[in-house]
Amino acid sequence: MKVLVINCGSSSLKYQLFNMENQSVLAKGIVERIGLEGGMLRHQPADKDKVEISENIPNHKVAVKIMLDALLDSNHGVINTVSEISAVGHRVVHGAERFSGSVRINDEVINVLKECISIAPLHNPPNIIGIEAVKELLPDVPMVGVFDTAFHQTMPEFAYIYGVPYDLYKKHSIRRYGFHGTSHRYVSMRAAKFLNKPIEDLKIVTLHLGNGSSITAVKNGKSVDNSMGFTPLEGIVMGTRCGSIDPAIVPFLIEKEGISPEKINDYLNKKCGVLGISGISSDFRDIEEAAASGNKRAKLALDVFAYQAKKYIGSYAAAMNGLDAIVFTGGIGENSSNMRKMICENMEYFGIRIDDARNNIRGKEADISAEDSKTRVLVIPTNEELMIALDTVALI
Ligand code: AMP
Repeated sequence: MKVLVINCGSSSLKYQLFNMENQSVLAKGIVERIGLEGGMLRHQPADKDKVEISENIPNHKVAVKIMLDALLDSNHGVINTVSEISAVGHRVVHGAERFSGSVRINDEVINVLKECISIAPLHNPPNIIGIEAVKELLPDVPMVGVFDTAFHQTMPEFAYIYGVPYDLYKKHSIRRYGFHGTSHRYVSMRAAKFLNKPIEDLKIVTLHLGNGSSITAVKNGKSVDNSMGFTPLEGIVMGTRCGSIDPAIVPFLIEKEGISPEKINDYLNKKCGVLGISGISSDFRDIEEAAASGNKRAKLALDVFAYQAKKYIGSYAAAMNGLDAIVFTGGIGENSSNMRKMICENMEYFGIRIDDARNNIRGKEADISAEDSKTRVLVIPTNEELMIALDTVALI
């Protein structure tokens, strides 16, 4: 069975075609700059050379068509007919309280997703456009929606209610939702397998550290808290997002910096984070390099990031009344031994000690804890696409 996984953003469409017999990737790629000048397809078949095609891509329907053409191409394609695609799994960012698991997509589900736009205006519209484009071009292929928020729907009420009037929760659905759920679910499951223990017996903190970063408390296989909130802006400081700040800063900024209320969201999402602190880059490779050559603000950005991650680990250990393992994933978590070391330093109180030699790895599953570390410290590369494909198979 072949399953196509699609992650549709406002101007890009990422895809992977899986052979689910052995969970291998037959081809993957990205259609970029949809609706902009300089449209481009980058297509990587598993056993053939990568291809890059520049093309005008006015909308998402054309992007889906270009992706399908690439998958079917006689040179760089990997299938002979679209009927080989048994199902399509879509990443959907926000399922609000309506979806606590993945669902088979039908017209009713699409309508509910449209209702969710008011609380996810940046993320859900491109997801819906992608779903509608696939529906038009592959009308007979079943589709499944997998939500970033779904895994966190098990959070207790006291973890998701904010200190604002309860009426606002009822009226506008203002609450913590949590994000990156597919990744946190995947790595917590892999961690339990790796440790050879039932997930129901484990208390795990999963740290998804990438351009966007979030941290989850996973107790007995269920998410009980996540650092992101009503939107993915809350939580630990990120590449360009401010993370949690005193909300009083927002009206202060509007007044003192003359940033309009409309622009403030964009500002907090794109100009802040470690980019804003370091003044150098949002990319941790650049920041680590600058810090190593003595740049003080680059070092400060790394210190702020590591300190906030540490505090989440501590608070989630408190929330779960224990800690069996912490898991690093995401571009930074999987690759930066330096950041893993900074976060794990001086955490003996929580039973966390890493082994420098074991920590010297990138991008593969590993236990990097010292022999005497009571809490296991794991690196688990995330694979949201595979998780989406597995959910898709389960639902069709
Ligand atoms: P993601 O959003 O999960 O793809 O993560 C992207 C981020 O991972 C990049 O912005 C980098 O900051 C970070 N990253 C990737 N490789 C490394 C590395 N070798 N060392 C430090 N950071 C890295």
